[in-house]
Amino acid sequence: MELDPKNRVIDAAYWAWVNQLRIDGRPFDLAGRDYQMEIMSPETEDGKVKTNEVIRKGSQIGITMGKVIEITHGAIHGLYPQGIIYYFPSQRAVEHFSKTRFKPFITDNDEIRKYCNDINAVAIRRIGSTNVNFFGCSATVRIGGQAKDSTNVRSTPADWVLLDERDLFDDEMAKQVNQRLGNSVINRRTDIGTPKLPDDGVDRIYGKSDQRRWQIKCISCRKHTCMESEFPNCIGLRDGVGYPKCVHCGAEIYTSNGLWIPDYPGKDVVGYWVSQLLNPNRDLAHVLKEYDDPEAYDMNEGEFQRTVMGLPFVSSEDRLTESDVYACCDNGYQMAYSHDGPCAAGWDVGPNALHVVIGHRITSDRYRLVRMARVPDFDALHDLLGRYNIKAGVGDAQPEVHKMRDMQRDENFAVYMCYYSPHLKTFDKWEQGTNIVTVNRTEVFDATHHVVTSPGRLMIPRNCEEVKIFAHQMTCAAKSLEPTGVSQILTYRYIKVGDKQDHYRNALNYFYLACKKIGLPPTKNSRNVATTQDMKFKL
Ligand SMILES: [Zn+2]
Repeated sequence: MELDPKNRVIDAAYWAWVNQLRIDGRPFDLAGRDYQMEIMSPETEDGKVKTNEVIRKGSQIGITMGKVIEITHGAIHGLYPQGIIYYFPSQRAVEHFSKTRFKPFITDNDEIRKYCNDINAVAIRRIGSTNVNFFGCSATVRIGGQAKDSTNVRSTPADWVLLDERDLFDDEMAKQVNQRLGNSVINRRTDIGTPKLPDDGVDRIYGKSDQRRWQIKCISCRKHTCMESEFPNCIGLRDGVGYPKCVHCGAEIYTSNGLWIPDYPGKDVVGYWVSQLLNPNRDLAHVLKEYDDPEAYDMNEGEFQRTVMGLPFVSSEDRLTESDVYACCDNGYQMAYSHDGPCAAGWDVGPNALHVVIGHRITSDRYRLVRMARVPDFDALHDLLGRYNIKAGVGDAQPEVHKMRDMQRDENFAVYMCYYSPHLKTFDKWEQGTNIVTVNRTEVFDATHHVVTSPGRLMIPRNCEEVKIFAHQMTCAAKSLEPTGVSQILTYRYIKVGDKQDHYRNALNYFYLACKKIGLPPTKNSRNVATTQDMKFKL
């Protein structure tokens, strides 16, 4: 990549190289790191100003220190006069970063030190005439159900905010940091992170961006190869040593011959996908070995995808796909307008509608849904349920506890209010007097996951628009190891992913519970039909 002389004042990577800045004790070197140049700039090579930028990355690729160089350069040159805020997911992460990375960066480099007022500060430093702030985002206070960041940072304005390790942030907090930019004409935001789950956090933001990939041009055939997309075919081996390989002609390619080419140039958000394959210090033959047998290198498949490839990962046991749901569709029937039952119903209160699932049991552990619907209010719910001979219904206790109590009083079937509990030691607990059911949240999500994925256990009507919405919402929950409680112990929890509209999934959870309180439907013409199949071989 050629450096344009007129850009030298604003080019952070060039500035760091000319001044021989020391990063983590070593001089900043651009050799083999051409992919970092554009990432360290407020503008793309093709001239797009980065108002919103996202970097979906593997770990240990130098992206964070690259941004620290860009921040320092921007501060010294007065590019962000109202200040810069670099957010980490926790105060502990800020302290660690400040002590082990940023303080050495200042003390090792006289070129920066001379602009810096207090090298021992942790949170706020003045570099040149710019405030550079490092804040932890974990100090969350809930006020009226809304997360608020701690009061000491609320009034700090900025021209540029960055969020590092984006997938560890509370979503509400991640939104609120934009308030720092309220008064800014520069109004720049950068989200950086190693992705955790597909279609969530940094992966979701990248998915809505112009999706730049590092396209390496082959000297032999002049075609491009993106290492990230073509892995593992883009790695060649010569005497056991790995090298980047053109997937079109097989010649060796050189990562410095690359360009960031967007897949969706019309999108405003500038997005980068950076993996360890681009890191010049990474042994590519070793990467192949890790990919082939991650356990031998003390990692699992998910960790390889996330930390090496910069890709999110979820195993099929942890999240349903729409195809899993469609596989339950029985083309032999469509949604019922009414039913003789006995039926069970589950409903979830969404922002604009109640999501309702109605069905019956086929055997003790097989279920058939006869209707799924969205209704505007509890009156409409009453009218709907009246046609299906409902024997038991379960709905979430919050946020409409009064409406649920009215239903318990007025309906001619048993209505139970459900509370999810993360800690319940049994699967469920039913209180007869109050008709409250408490259920272990992770276990009921696991249960409906298995009902969907075990062949024959769930039948749903033939595909139609409502089934499509149902199928989509079934995928908006994923099981993930999450730090929980004060001690932050890692436990499995289902978290909302994608567009987070998981109402039908909850409705199915409630339906599953309600089915425990109804009997089996009477078998019609049961005398004329053999109820068991003769399975004996007659030879
Ligand atoms: Zn080629």
